[in-house]
Amino acid sequence: MEKQKIAGLSLIEWKEKYPLLKKLIKTDEVFWLNPNYGSNQGISILQAEHVKAAEERLERFAQYIVHAFPETKPTNGIIESPLVEIPSMKKSIEESYMTDISGKLLLKCDSHLPISGSIKARGGIYEVLKRAEEIAMEHGGLKQSDNYEILASDKFKELFSHYSIAVGSTGNLGLSIGIISARLGFKVTVHMSADAKQWKKDKLRNLGVIVKEYEDDYSKAVEEGRKEASLDPNCHFIDDENSKDLLLGYATAATRLKNQLKGMSIPVDEDHPLFVYLPCGVGGGPGGITYGLKLAFEDDVHCFFAEPTHSPCMLLGLATALHDKVSVQDFGIDNKTEADGLAVGRSSELVSSMMTSILSGSYTIQDKRLFDLLRELAETEGYYLEPSALAGVYGPVQLFSSEEGKQYLKDQKLQEKMKQSTHIIWATGGSMVPKVMMEEYLTKS
Ligand SMILES: *Cc1c(COP(=O)(O)O)cnc(C)c1O
Repeated sequence: MEKQKIAGLSLIEWKEKYPLLKKLIKTDEVFWLNPNYGSNQGISILQAEHVKAAEERLERFAQYIVHAFPETKPTNGIIESPLVEIPSMKKSIEESYMTDISGKLLLKCDSHLPISGSIKARGGIYEVLKRAEEIAMEHGGLKQSDNYEILASDKFKELFSHYSIAVGSTGNLGLSIGIISARLGFKVTVHMSADAKQWKKDKLRNLGVIVKEYEDDYSKAVEEGRKEASLDPNCHFIDDENSKDLLLGYATAATRLKNQLKGMSIPVDEDHPLFVYLPCGVGGGPGGITYGLKLAFEDDVHCFFAEPTHSPCMLLGLATALHDKVSVQDFGIDNKTEADGLAVGRSSELVSSMMTSILSGSYTIQDKRLFDLLRELAETEGYYLEPSALAGVYGPVQLFSSEEGKQYLKDQKLQEKMKQSTHIIWATGGSMVPKVMMEEYLTKS
């Protein structure tokens, strides 16, 4: 009997070719080093001047943002999150995992980004603002030199009401896009996957957003959204699997991070390496940020992605070089995880190919550990995150304790420099989780 093939090879042949797949398919935790790291392809897909243009666009919108979302007043309408040192958590994980983490451990609190409380307040909001600017310039006489606060006027709201925005999401992207689009006055439809949490759907419906629900996973929600949006010429579909604008919005995080590090007198250079650990779903958020970081710090920054053991789509796509031509389900992995923001079975082709040479590696983490780390961080530092956002915490542990992690430090000749290293865990969401839900997370084991 002919066994079913996956992209031309049988499962046995795949496992022979890439032995790591055996553990990945068993949903064991793995730490994968990217064999193509440093070969410098892929970096030219986006360019520094595009990131700069995105930064400038967000500055033009700052006065509108302060007006529409007064909570952004402290940062003058720039949607940015704190970077904090977490020494108690460092001590705690060193003890619980019996490993030494050399250097500083920091938390990048995108969990506390204003407006939508997750990393999606970067890319998602950026793309909607860009679209609003285009329409306002073309049909409303907006000029770059204007005070963009005028976009909050009835005239522009009326203009935007003739246009619509659509998106497919596991929850947080829908939340970001829904909130900003509704505030501007767009008609907005969010196509939610089965993983999306009820409170996120409720919140959007309360804002007048149309929420469509699917029994299926994220890829299906995106597909349906794309199909529906294509029927309406005035509808802009925010394509989480392919959008360069989303990536540019995320990439603007890098220059700001650089300034934050400078402000904390933390050097990043050849002798002071920076390590960044980013939870990955379809890849847009972590991919855009990695891209920006590579532009800002070049070889002095080392980026790692983190995925649930049941949804390792980016790792699978990169390790097999099949990118989006393969889903975790093709290999019998079920894409079932409590980390709803990371419940994606097929990665973005755009991001996956960009990461081919700039991502240092990627690892997987069990759901149970996410909840343990959630509690540990809350107890030691008082930060309350959603489960997805804890995936990055396991990175430094694995870097210093796994064979692969040690190998990376050796290959990159970093062993002697690790005392001066800095490790940033990208906390991707959590501040908007309702209290009852958070209490449930805190007692889960
Ligand atoms: C979306 C999301 C991610 C991952 O971002 P992708 O762009 O899907 O890779 C990580 N954490 C949280 C909380 C998210 O909502």
